[in-house]
Amino acid sequence: MTTKQDKTQEENSQILSRQNKKMTVFKCSCGARILIVPDLPEMDKVIQKHLMEHKRKTGQQLNEETLIQLIVEAITENQS
Ligand SMILES: [Zn+2]
Repeated sequence: MTTKQDKTQEENSQILSRQNKKMTVFKCSCGARILIVPDLPEMDKVIQKHLMEHKRKTGQQLNEETLIQLIVEAITENQS
């Protein structure tokens, strides 16, 4: 009987670890995919880097606050 219970717990932990590994990717209007990391200084670097890439790619200046807002929306959607 305990075998069955153990198996269920194992399955649950597998599901949990799979969910933890699921990463949020923000798709920018320029077509770039930005991986969202839970580390703020790292995320800031990614944002700064993409602001330059975005301008080079599209010739249009992307506002930093707009990009942050879009990323926050992507995270919120991913969590629901
Ligand atoms: Zn972009």
